[in-house]
Amino acid sequence: MRPFNHINANTLDEVSDALKKGGAVAIAGGGDLLSALKDDIFHEYPKTVINIKSVPDLDYIKSDDGTLKIGALTTLADIARSTITAENFDILAQAAGKASSPALRETTTIGGNLCQLPRCWYFRKLNNRFDCARKGGERCFAFTGDNRYHSVFGGATFETASGEKRTCIAVNQGELAPVLTVLGAKFQTTERLIDAADFFGVGVMNATVLNCGEILTEIQIPIPETARKNRYKRFAFRKSIDFPVINLAISVDNKNNYRICLGGVAPVPYVAAKAEALLNGREITEELAEQAGDAAAEGAKPFEANAYKVPLIKTLVKRELLAL
Ligand SMILES: Cc1cc2nc3c(=O)[nH]c(=O)nc-3n(C[C@H](O)[C@H](O)[C@H](O)COP(=O)(O)OP(=O)(O)OC[C@H]3O[C@@H](n4cnc5c(N)ncnc54)[C@H](O)[C@@H]3O)c2cc1C
Ligand code: SF4
Repeated sequence: MRPFNHINANTLDEVSDALKKGGAVAIAGGGDLLSALKDDIFHEYPKTVINIKSVPDLDYIKSDDGTLKIGALTTLADIARSTITAENFDILAQAAGKASSPALRETTTIGGNLCQLPRCWYFRKLNNRFDCARKGGERCFAFTGDNRYHSVFGGATFETASGEKRTCIAVNQGELAPVLTVLGAKFQTTERLIDAADFFGVGVMNATVLNCGEILTEIQIPIPETARKNRYKRFAFRKSIDFPVINLAISVDNKNNYRICLGGVAPVPYVAAKAEALLNGREITEELAEQAGDAAAEGAKPFEANAYKVPLIKTLVKRELLAL
């Protein structure tokens, strides 16, 4: 790891100001950021690491006026064992309890989980060996390289600081993103309130739509008035301490309105809108579940190396619908 200044922030303004000056990164639990610093993956190594965990009052889970509110610094372990979460949002507790490892879940936060950088192995290669488009470099190495874990629904195009257009095919593999999307969560930041479905994005060293210096402060989830049925499923190659290759969240209300979102298949969490439209208002049967699986994968254009993800999407969606 290279040397950097470390600041324990007392306020969110202090964090925002440091980030806006440039050359700084924010750290919460460090589960994602510390390995990026250690592996020296940056286009420009940060001069300052500013600790958000020292900002008070951002670590809580509370029910308030029909909404579950979770502070951005709440750890995944606290979310997984919270009775308020389990009672209202079983799939959130399940997903939080499956990310990374028991030890990491004690220190890593929901905010960091939602803002984590992509896992693409070119992006993560030691000593910035591949200075790719997502870091501000010229090109995407995965297009012609090893893209077995990459998007099957195309790339996301974004602009670099100098206004050039670049495309990235890395996927969002975060554990909680699909779950919070189907639960209709909203994210409070230091600047605005953003729907979960609009929060994720693709930019240089960024996997959200947050502006420079904008900090996620609270996750708000509406507590449904009538019970919903939910499912969360992750497919990973190893049983523990492995990112999901694909993760899936489904939520359905008592009128059979379905919300389905997949991680690991597209640059941002993928809402399976065609499957939702097919299912809405209908009771699940074996045949309908199979059709919905096909609809969820419709439009996929995989590479040869990640074509396995297409039948995986179909099977996961079908099985989890039947398990509802
Ligand atoms: C061995 C290992 C296994 C892992 N397995 C999984 C897994 O299975 N599933 C999974 O989802 N993740 C996994 N992770 C990644 C990581 O641990 C988690 O995503 C974790 O929740 C990150 O949270 P953190 O608080 O440690 O974030 P940090 O590492 O501190 O921060 C991550 C990023 O988010 C930004 N950030 C943090 N908080 C905020 C905020 N409030 N507002 C704005 N930006 C913010 C930081 O600047 C940084 O860029 C794994 C990591 C390791 C090392
Ligand atoms: S997929 Fe994205 S992160 Fe990976 S090499 Fe291409 S531009 Fe970089």
